[in-house]
Parts: sequence; C-alpha cells; structure tokens
Amino acid sequence: DLIQGWRAVDDYLVDTLVDEDDTLRQARAASHAAGLPPIEVAANQGAFLALLVRLVSGRRVLEVGTLGGYSTIWLGRAVGPTGRVVTLEVDPHHAEVARANLERAGLGAVAQVVLGPAVDSLDALIAARPEPFDLVFIDADKQNNARYLAAALRLTRPGSAIVIDNVVRRGAVVDPAHTDPDVLGTRAVLGLVRAEPRLTATALQTVGSKGWDGFVLALVGQPR
Ligand code: SAM
Repeated sequence: DLIQGWRAVDDYLVDTLVDEDDTLRQARAASHAAGLPPIEVAANQGAFLALLVRLVSGRRVLEVGTLGGYSTIWLGRAVGPTGRVVTLEVDPHHAEVARANLERAGLGAVAQVVLGPAVDSLDALIAARPEPFDLVFIDADKQNNARYLAAALRLTRPGSAIVIDNVVRRGAVVDPAHTDPDVLGTRAVLGLVRAEPRLTATALQTVGSKGWDGFVLALVGQPR
C-alpha cells in the first residue's frame, strides 16, 4: 500500500544518498533497546537538518526535544568540532541515553543535553544572554510550540533558521474534529509564525518512513 511504498522509497533514498553510518545506526538501536519510542527523525530528515545547518553556516544550534540524541548527532556533526548544540530534554532516561549516544559519537564536547522542561531551560538560556543560535529545531511536546517559537525568536538573529517539526500530523491539522493539545498547539504556532513580522516562512508536507507529516521552515528576517 501507500505507506509501504513511502517506506521503500525512503529506504532506497537513504541507501543511495544518505551517509547514515554505524554511529548513527548504533545510536538509533541503543535508543530503541533502552525503551525509547522510535520517533526520531528518519536518516534522510537528519541529513536535511544537517544541510540546513550548513546552509546558514551554522556554528550554534538549539534543539528542543532530544530523545536519544539521534537528530542531535546529525546537528552536532554539521556544526563542526568547534560548534555547539544545546539540546533540551525533560525525560531523565532519554537524556541519559542521549548523553551516552553523543559520547559514543565523539560529540560529548559539542552537544550539551540540558535536562528539564524546555520552557524553563529556555527561560534560563534567555537570561544567560548567549550568543545567538544559527538554527533552532523545535521537536518536543507540540502543545508548547508557541512558547518555544517565542523563545527561539529571542535566541536567534536575522539570518537564523527555525524548523518546527510535525505540523501536518497525518492531516489532523486541517481536521476540525481533531482538538487534542498537539493539534491545537500546531495550529497556534502556525498562526504565530504567520503573524510574526520578523519571520519569513513556509511549510512543506512530507511522506516517508515516518508516514505523512510536515515541517515549517522559517527564516528570521523580513521578506524581501
Ligand atoms: N529530535 C529527536 C530526534 O529526532 O532524534 C526526537 C525528539 S522526540 C519527537 C520529542 C522529545 O521531546 C521526547 O524525548 C520527549 O521526552 C521530549 N519532551 C516532551 N516534552 C518536553 C518538554 N516539556 N520539555 C523538554 N522536552 C520534552
């Protein structure tokens, strides 16, 4: 059926194009073995995030939602050995698995896993007035996406990119019958993106091994 076809094409594209090496495969396997849900980005999506980091010449990346650090490895490699990834995770077990995966990937000094509710961690980050982040990847609890976007705007600069994952949710975003907090959070953040004069954005639907979903890509900076 359709979903099997999407998966087969994703497998083909990953095999053909994407350099998912043993370290990444091990990180995925270790996360699943530790009981984490298999909801990390697909390999070709990880590669896409890494390309976005390089397109913005990213040296500093902020991730909201670490899980086992699979996407963090892609981001950590993309910022290079002198770069920095700060990744926020509320679940202590997830954070522990992620730290081990990042250590094994040789990214222990590049990627910092910050444990706690992301809203609190973001408040602390804003208070610390760090150098701006070049890319923010928002991929945690969707009901807080509006707050994550507001924080991302305070932590970036014109030219930074903001990616918000899972905004299609198998079409639930346009189904009025869907009123769960994740769908409401998604609609809310899309409205905020639209209303925010500091952002130029689009959203794309995706199909693949993760089913039917989509993401927002926003550039900090007014439209030309
Ligand atoms: N970015 C990861 C990847 O692709 O490998 C996947 C992240 S997973 C979709 C979402 C993660 O966000 C989970 O590990 C979950 O525990 C975490 N999370 C959920 N609510 C959170 C919160 N309030 N603060 C921080 N992290 C949260």
